Formats: sequence, structure tokens, C-alpha cells
Amino acid sequence: MTGRDDMDAKRRDPKVRSDEATRLRAQLEELAGNLFWSWFSKGTGVDGATIFRALDPARWEATNHDPHALLDGMDDDALADAVARTGLERAIDEAVRALHAYLDAEDSWAEGRAGTLHREPIAYFSAEFGVHESLAIYSGGLGVLAGDHLKSASDLGLPLVGVGLFYREGYFRQALDGEGRQTETYPAVDPADEGLSPVRDLAGAPVRVAVEHEEGTIHAQVWEARVGRVRLLLLDTDVEENDAETRRLTARLYGGGHAMRIRQELLLGVGGLRALEAAGIRPGVLHLNEGHSAFAALEAAARRVEREGLSIEEARHEVASRTIFTTHTPVPAGHDRFEPELVLAHLRPLAERLGLDDDALLALGRVDAEDEEETFCMTVLALRFAHRVNGVSFLHGRVSREMWAELWPARKRHEIPIGHVTNGVHLPTFMAPRMRTLLDGVLPTGWAHRAWDPEVWQAALELDDRALWEIRHGLKRDLCAFVRLRASTEARERGESAEVVAALEEALDEDALLVGFARRFATYKRAALLLKDLDALDELVNDPERPMRVVFAGKAHPKDEGGKKLIQRVFEVGRDPRFLGKVILLSDYDIGVGRGLTRGVDVWLNNPRRPLEASGTSGQKVVLNGGLNCSILDGWWAEGWDGENGFAIGDGEVHKDIRLQDARDHEALVAVLRDEVKPLFYTREHGLPLEWLHRVKRGFATLAWRFNSDRMVRDYAVGSYFPAAGVQLADHR
Ligand SMILES: *Cc1c(COP(=O)(O)O)cnc(C)c1O
Repeated sequence: MTGRDDMDAKRRDPKVRSDEATRLRAQLEELAGNLFWSWFSKGTGVDGATIFRALDPARWEATNHDPHALLDGMDDDALADAVARTGLERAIDEAVRALHAYLDAEDSWAEGRAGTLHREPIAYFSAEFGVHESLAIYSGGLGVLAGDHLKSASDLGLPLVGVGLFYREGYFRQALDGEGRQTETYPAVDPADEGLSPVRDLAGAPVRVAVEHEEGTIHAQVWEARVGRVRLLLLDTDVEENDAETRRLTARLYGGGHAMRIRQELLLGVGGLRALEAAGIRPGVLHLNEGHSAFAALEAAARRVEREGLSIEEARHEVASRTIFTTHTPVPAGHDRFEPELVLAHLRPLAERLGLDDDALLALGRVDAEDEEETFCMTVLALRFAHRVNGVSFLHGRVSREMWAELWPARKRHEIPIGHVTNGVHLPTFMAPRMRTLLDGVLPTGWAHRAWDPEVWQAALELDDRALWEIRHGLKRDLCAFVRLRASTEARERGESAEVVAALEEALDEDALLVGFARRFATYKRAALLLKDLDALDELVNDPERPMRVVFAGKAHPKDEGGKKLIQRVFEVGRDPRFLGKVILLSDYDIGVGRGLTRGVDVWLNNPRRPLEASGTSGQKVVLNGGLNCSILDGWWAEGWDGENGFAIGDGEVHKDIRLQDARDHEALVAVLRDEVKPLFYTREHGLPLEWLHRVKRGFATLAWRFNSDRMVRDYAVGSYFPAAGVQLADHR
């Protein structure tokens, strides 16, 4: 017998097979049990997604890249067969070893720097976390940012624990009907099926928390997701002690009315802090990601009053000195506000512990403490309980200082204590492995572990044009194939005509300039700006010399009729014979779709109404993959653009009359696409768009180091976490 026959014979032996399958399953489950699987890569196909996909590609897609659902759906025979067929055994071994090595590593950036935080970590509170599309507890950029924050904290070895809610029905899955109307479904998931485990207290019992309000008590169990070295605790009210309504309190993200919202926030802040304590975690620093979790600071203050006998003012000062607050919303209407009665009904038990009467409690959330008409604003509460406050871009910091100036009436604008930490994205999550391999060839060894260092990126300017262009083309080819399959499948499922389905099967053109636009369809983001004048669009798209294609995706909040209209508009334009197969709307945008789009497009379009995009991060993903941004000078782009690393729409000017602003921005958008983007893309020398590629390389050299989440988390560590915890920093490099 040859060696191969010998192996085949062994595989047929039922006992050997079943032992092998048990071992493989254990390895794969271990891998799936830590979300690290979703971002590590050892190159050459040894990465989590490649391994899981190979086991059953169709099922991998059908489960939306959920390794737990994938493994649950395969019996031992199927698993052993798949591994034998694909020859994955070595890759699985290597992946498990990579996980162990990562978890045990002792040479991370924060090791030896984070002082007392190693014992008393940072508690990072957020209403949403977007770690991976298979864990659907996020709605958009805020959640993805929180997910990236955890991943970078993990990579940097920073002691940090995430605290959030587990939404069994998530945000929602989006479908479009034959008229392009959004429909929402809420498939339920069980946390145990997602590989989450119950958090246990020091005695080994599952942690339970209870939060009382005037109308009852909210009980919750606590699940843990592992995000590399970071623990993410998620509270879930679907427990027997609760009445039916309370059991559904955490069913959906941003689902109910104000009463539901304040209870979710009470649970997140107060319950979250109690969950940490029950799990034996003593946070040294609190980080409130947006105002939703601001009640955590009140709970922290109440403990100090009770346990240390401090006055409320002393307690507030103590808590504030260890609390960081990141605000994300540049419009007053975007901040959570609650009616006074609602606040009193939910916060009185906490206020009593703090020794606050009703007026004093309400004053904490009012800009003007005396104004009895004023609602209770979570941002104001957070601003009063955090000494370190930041917006999420330079421009947004300035906008926030103006917006909240009234809280510091004696100060000049520049003295308002709100700074900024510009958002970034997690490089290993969003950079295509192929691009990473290309960069490995020119950037200094270990560059990905120093992605925040401008110096390591300078060598990107030396990238070989042809090699770069080939990688870019490959990424675009993959995206085009994905879009064709997905768009035509969706059309078939909603019963569109054979003609439409056929056109979508052949959609796009790999050689044409490909523009992408995907984000939440909030109206200020103006998804349909490019479609404002269809004749102008026709000229851009159907120019025989310089064609252009556009792919859109995005969800509108279920109650946002304006946003839903925009979706319909994009859909309808995609059914206009001039644009069929050329302007395409994909449904059910999520992190996975976003990852694919930002890897493959030539140009990423962002045209918010300045200054309403606090930061924006999707364009940063594009930078990491060698695409170019074409954006209004808002959010991160207002500080990132240098004239040669992408394209600016307009000059940052704003107008009071939004109709006028929209008209001007539309004109500027068409002009930049026609006069700058296309000429650069279509001017070739030996088949290469050299000036275009120069901009791509400039994007790496000037943007990549700044707008990644390692840089962001280091900024938080050095500028906020360490000082808040009293950690001395000798050398932070
Ligand atoms: C990156 C990302 C975002 C952020 O988009 P911006 O509007 O550019 O901030 C939102 N949603 C998903 C799914 C993402 O992956």
C-alpha cells in the first residue's frame, strides 16, 4: 500500500475516524470560541475565515460567517470528511497554536506600562459592539468603533473589559421588496449558540444582577464573549425572574420608546457596573462610549458615598477624575433626552443612595439646573461626571465645544474642556490579507505591530506600481463577483423579472471605475446626492471612454421614513434602463459586506452634510486596501486630506440653507468625479494609472498610520487612561 492508501484506510476505520473528528471538533470550537479567529492571519490561508469557509463554503455564506452555526450543522463524519478533503489539518493546528501564542504573549505594548490598570482595568461601556457580522449586536459606526477599540486594546495588551447588552434579536436584517421598500426581520439568537459563556462569580456561580426602579426590578444574566485577550460582558434580561415585558428589554437594539430606552440604559450603566463587581473585576477607569451608559457614573458615585462616606460633591469629583467620556453626536437633537417623570421613576432609588432630592437629581442632566422644562440629557450627565471628554475628530471636537459651551459659562471657547481623539479602524480586520502580504514585502519587519508609527509606512511610497495595481485589480474582481452573485440572488428572491436578474448576473465591469457608498442611511449622509440629477449621472456612468459603476448598501432605522425613502430612490435608479447593472443597491449591509466593499472599490464616496459626520470610519478601511476617498471635508477627512491622498468634494464651506448646500455639494461632487477622479484613473502609461497609484501610496504613507485603531487606543491610553489611573509614563513608545 502506498502512504496515501494507508491513510485512506485509516480514515475508513470508524474508531480512528471518530477520535479524529472529536479532536478536530474540539480544536475548531476552541478557535471559534474566541473572536480572535476573525482577525488573525498567518498568511498563506492560515486564518480563521479561510479555515471555516473551506469546511463548507455554501453553509459559511448561509450562516453569515458564523463558525458556531457552521460547526453545529456538521456531524462528525461531515467534519472529518471536510478536513480530509481540504487538507486543512495543518492549518487548524497552526491556527490553534497562533491563538495560544497570542493569549500567552508577554511582549505587548502595554505590558509593563499600564501599572495599576493590570489589577484594576479600564471598563469600556457601549450600547453596541460590532466585533463581527456573526455577533449582530451593533447598528453602525458607533458599534464597529467599539469593536475595533476592543480588538486594538487586545492587540496592545491593554487591560480593558467591555460592557454591553446582548440583543437576542440584534438590530435587524434588511430585505428590499420589489419596489425597493425596506423590510425588517429579527431572527432570534441564543447567546449559548454563539459560543458565549455565562460569567461566573468568584465562587463559580453564574453572575446575576438586579437593578431596581420605582416600578420594579430588572434582572439580568451576564454572558461573556472573548475578543482576543479582552473580555466583553453582555447583559441579557431574558431570565425567569423577569416579567414578560422585562424579559424582552434587551431583545432589540434601539427598538422601543423612551421608557424602554431608559431601562436599557439603566441596565447598561448601573447593571453593567454591578456585573463587573460580581465577576470580581474592580475597574480602575470608566470609559463611556457615548452617553447611553452615563448612569454607570452615578452608580460609581453612589458606592463611594455609601462605602467611603463621601459627600455627593466629593464622590462626583472622585468618579469624574477616573472617567472618560467620548461624545459622538454633533447635533443637539441626536443626544438622548428623557422626560423628568421618566427619570424620576427610574433613578429615585439611586438618587436616594446619593442623598439627592428630585430637583438635584434632574439638575445633573440639565444644562440650566433651574429650568424645570428642560429634559434630562445623558450627554450632560456624562459631561458632569467625566473630567476627560473628547469628540471623535478634530472638527467634531470644535463643534462639541461650541455645542456645550453653556455648561461652562465663564470660559472662552478654546477653554471648554472637550478635546478630540480621532477614530480609527482595526487594521487586521479590514486590510485584505493579500494587501498585507504585498506590504510585508516593502515595509519594515513587524510593521503591523507598529501600525501607529508614521515611519514604518514611509516605505509604502516605494511599492512597485504594477504589483500594487495587480493586487488592486484582484480585490476589485472579487468584489465584482460578490456583487453580481448577491444582487442577482436578491432580485430573484424578490421575484424580479428574468431580464433584471440577467442584467445583475452580468453587472459591473472590472475595468470601469468602481465607486462605493455604504453606511447607515441616516438622512444627513445624503445617500442619494449623486442621484440628484440623472442626466449628470448618465454622463458619468455611461461615458464610453471613461465608464463608472456605483455600488450602494445601507440600512435605515426602522422609524426613519426619510432614510427609507433614500433607499427606495437608490433602488429605483438601479432599475432605470440607463443604470441597470451599473448602479446597484445591495441589501442587508453589515460588517461583512462593508469589509468586502471597502477592499474592492476604487473610490469610496462620502458626502455628508458638513459638519454632521462626527468622524466616519468606513473610508479609513478603504485607505488600508489601496482605494481612494472622495469625500466632503467633514469628520476624519477634514484632517486627513492633504490634496494628494484622495479627493475632496468642495472646500468645506457650509451654508445655512441646506437646499443650497445640497445643490452646491452635488455640483462639486459631479465636478470632482468628472474632472479629477476619472482623468487620474483613466490616464495610463504601459497600462498603469501612475498618478492614481501615487495617490494610493500617498494614502498609505499619510493616512494609514493615523486612522487605525491602534493609534486611537494608544492615544486614549496615553492621554486619558494612564493619567486617570495615575500611571506614570516614562516612555510611551
Ligand atoms: C465601518 C462601518 C460603518 C461606519 O461607517 P461610516 O458611516 O463611514 O462611519 C458602519 N457600518 C458598518 C457595518 C461598518 O462596517
